[in-house]
Amino acid sequence: GLVDVTFRELAATASVQVTPPARKEGPSAVLPTEGVLLVVDEDPAVLEEAERLGRAHVVRVLSARTADEAVVLARRQWVDGVLIHMHLGGEMGGIQAAHELRSTEGLGSLPLGFTGVSGGLEDRVAAAHAGGSLFLPRPFTATDFAAAAERMVAARRPERSRVLVVDDDPEAIAALVHALASEQIEVVGLGDAHRLMEALAEHRPDLLLLDVQMPGPSGFDLCRILRSMPAWQELPVLLITAHLGLEFRLAAFQAGADDYISKPVLKEELRARVQARLERARLSRERAERDALTGLMLRRPFIEGVRSRLSEAQRQQRPLSLCFLDVDHFKRVNDKYGHLAGDRVLTRLGRLLGARFRREDVRGRWGGEEFVVGLLGETAASAKAILSRTMAEVAEMTFDGDGGESFRVTMSAGIAESPGDGATMEALLRVADARLNRAKTNGRNRIEV
Ligand code: GH3
Ligand code: MG
Ligand code: MG
Repeated sequence: GLVDVTFRELAATASVQVTPPARKEGPSAVLPTEGVLLVVDEDPAVLEEAERLGRAHVVRVLSARTADEAVVLARRQWVDGVLIHMHLGGEMGGIQAAHELRSTEGLGSLPLGFTGVSGGLEDRVAAAHAGGSLFLPRPFTATDFAAAAERMVAARRPERSRVLVVDDDPEAIAALVHALASEQIEVVGLGDAHRLMEALAEHRPDLLLLDVQMPGPSGFDLCRILRSMPAWQELPVLLITAHLGLEFRLAAFQAGADDYISKPVLKEELRARVQARLERARLSRERAERDALTGLMLRRPFIEGVRSRLSEAQRQQRPLSLCFLDVDHFKRVNDKYGHLAGDRVLTRLGRLLGARFRREDVRGRWGGEEFVVGLLGETAASAKAILSRTMAEVAEMTFDGDGGESFRVTMSAGIAESPGDGATMEALLRVADARLNRAKTNGRNRIEV
């Protein structure tokens, strides 16, 4: 087969037992503790070896032979990443498979990787555009595969949430830590309520558990104070008390608490309440950062996202490209086909941008019919190659006007590259915008670098 012989040697020494991961059922489902990688390949030898190799590592490998099989599997159970044969069932068949996976509800940001024999520039560009965060040349060795699998699985792991517990009783803190701490939740205990502000600033928790009866300020007092401070108004707060009479419950909500729980604390109930609140907070944070019409990031979170990637790129001495995209003659679209048709265009363009590119790339709606993309590790030249695929796809799309007519749109783009065009976000935005204007004056439906 294609796979190196070291695969077999490694598999023969495998002794690690893996348990099947829990199925993802709704947002609060428990994540499998091990990573799950889906390998999509038509070569049974590759699949067999990948599965065997998976058993030797902490990654559980699932396999699919076709794009359809992969979509069915990824919808049915949790997957951390997908590794696809670039030429699955024919020239660039894997790219099509990637598009199908990414356009499946809930899988829009699934980390993708590709395997292929050549890995030349053309393949690399196609892979990056289709969402491939890595390219693994075939045949691959056990070490290569393990490194690739680990990278893909790490990308999807959600960040750990942090819970701050405030209680004057050290034993109560220990019990709460024991009940809550897990792979997904980190718990920090605080015995002295007077130090709450410092602890909040230091640990920046996602949720606060407050004991009501404490010497000094009570949980009610602390909660009221937090609710008067803009920085902590949104922080989920759960009060813990031995008293659960009506008077207490009313006082808890009047103080601004989100929920309360009685002492002695039931481990399962505490976990369920905390997890529900954390999930809520995560969803509302995500919603606040996304544009409703296109599903892309809003301007401010986009800028923050690119800034952090920019410093990462500079640390690693890698390039980063910032692209400005603008729909051509969009005013005419609205005038001719209706404002609702215009909205539908923006929604579909947003979905396309959201489903393409790699997980580490940032995509946003700058405003109106302007979009922005930040590509980590790409020069202006490679970003142009990647983006021209997106624009070719846009040019192929047909839209329905409000009167039933059918029409097409084109886009123009300007790209700036770090460090060549500037080292700051502001400089890159300025250069990319100037180049977008040049694309417009040079006739539209084009990219300027
Ligand atoms: P150019 O090729 O030079 O970019 O021309 P243009 O008509 O696209 O550019 P212009 O900036 O003059 O017009 C943009 C239009 O986009 C104007 C505005 O009404 C429309 N627009 C902005 N936001 C939305 C939106 O959310 N929905 C719809 N339907 N239209 C929008
Ligand atoms: Mg425009
Ligand atoms: Mg515009």
